[in-house]
Amino acid sequence: MMGTTGSTTITKPASIARGGPPWRLQIGWQHHANCKGPQSELFFAPNHLERKEDRLEREAAAKALCRRCPVLVECREYALMVREPHGIWGGLNEYERRQLLARRAG
Ligand code: SF4
Repeated sequence: MMGTTGSTTITKPASIARGGPPWRLQIGWQHHANCKGPQSELFFAPNHLERKEDRLEREAAAKALCRRCPVLVECREYALMVREPHGIWGGLNEYERRQLLARRAG
């Protein structure tokens, strides 16, 4: 999801890196995100109580945008790297990201 403008280089924490050269991630990819604009509200829970059916529908719409996004991989890896706790990033919600991190750690 969007949140930073410009191109900033983030160095992957050593605790995540597993050998190989230092892993660096550019976040300039956000300029190419499919979630820019008014549809960005689909990617995060509203401030009011959201019914389960409404959440599933909202997340499905957000994930459909992610599937067509040219920077899905960059977005997902960024969210995993920073342990983003909220919202849909790279086609995954927070629960799915935690599951993926657990599988990678296992
Ligand atoms: S993958 Fe999804 S959340 Fe990430 S930039 Fe693209 S549309 Fe936005």
